[in-house]
Amino acid sequence: LSLASRRAAMIQQPPWSEAMEKSSAKLFLLKKADLLSRFGGVAPKMAEEAHSLVIDQVVQKALDDAKLTGKDLSAVAVTIGPGLSLCLRVGVSKARRVAGSYDLPIIGVHHMEAHALVARLVERDLQFPFLALLISGGHNLLVLAHDVGHYVQLGTTIDDAIGEAYDKTARWLGLDISKGGGAALEELAREGDSHAIKFKIPMRQHKDCNFSYAGLKTQVRLAIESKNICAQKDSISSAATPHRKSQADIAASFQRVAVLHLEEKCERAIEWARGLEPSLQCLVVSGGVASNQYVRSRLQQVSERKHLRLVFPPPSLCTDNGVMVAWTGIEHFLLGRYDPPPPVNEAEDYVYDLRPRWPLGEEYVQGRSEAR
Ligand code: ATP
Ligand code: FE
Repeated sequence: LSLASRRAAMIQQPPWSEAMEKSSAKLFLLKKADLLSRFGGVAPKMAEEAHSLVIDQVVQKALDDAKLTGKDLSAVAVTIGPGLSLCLRVGVSKARRVAGSYDLPIIGVHHMEAHALVARLVERDLQFPFLALLISGGHNLLVLAHDVGHYVQLGTTIDDAIGEAYDKTARWLGLDISKGGGAALEELAREGDSHAIKFKIPMRQHKDCNFSYAGLKTQVRLAIESKNICAQKDSISSAATPHRKSQADIAASFQRVAVLHLEEKCERAIEWARGLEPSLQCLVVSGGVASNQYVRSRLQQVSERKHLRLVFPPPSLCTDNGVMVAWTGIEHFLLGRYDPPPPVNEAEDYVYDLRPRWPLGEEYVQGRSEAR
């Protein structure tokens, strides 16, 4: 059972109780789409309250859909980091209550490990070692996966992640981000000329596997301002918008460079990874941005050039989802890595083991591995 998805709570239109409707929680009667549009992203306190309001229903629905009760479970897996501690706490508290009630072991899961390992659910013959490119709203990671729970980080972002750059660009262009900024931008980019604007490719002079998207974001912002596209900041783009062509050109040009940066660093990471693991055969690409069709086609070409098998989980398992957390729990559980059932009547002031900042594995530095 995953209690981690910060969005799952909002996706369903839940059977809100009357009492709730009358309470100050009225804000949360808005659907996820409205909330994203209104706030342009996830506001921590709002997300925590939204989690708390719906967590019981989400868990119950997961059990009902699977035609199971708590008694049928073997263990409870829950994300303990990295992420917003306010939200993590809601999930961990619920997970411990479920585990305590049914006397089940509990497994604390790393959110980014879950993004990577879900590939082994999709492709059951996928063996370690493999290289994983994890691209999402908060992370841009290149990790060599040696085994469950054993990773070496070859590269990370020095500032923003690619998903953040997609989200900001979509907002600045005034797109309808109710289905997510990345998806909106990808759609618009299909209409544009990807060579119309010459954005600079980041970090080319750095002979490492790290990423940077802050500079590209600034270039995009300046391009938007210079074309005076976003005069009405919150306007919703439509086919009738006079600036549509310029918007599409910016979207396509941004996407080409953002993804080229991924391709270049990924190619170098494959070389590094082969130095560490000559038997490397597979590249996994996961995280919300891996839903993007352009990203998929470009990385397909990289894997062909480098003679690697490529595994992309389906989009529904790339973006945050509970399945990946449950699966990662199973991987650890089968290796005997879990905590004993928590006490049924846990004290209210019990301090949870949360890891809001939790690197995935050790860092690879200039030819040697350093434990963090
Ligand atoms: P993290 O996993 O780093 O903690 P997160 O959990 O918020 O961040 P995910 O749910 O894994 O992120 O991914 C969400 C990100 O993926 C968002 O930035 C979103 O814009 C991006 N994204 C989703 N679909 C697409 C798409 N089609 N094209 C580009 N980006 C996309
Ligand atoms: Fe995620």
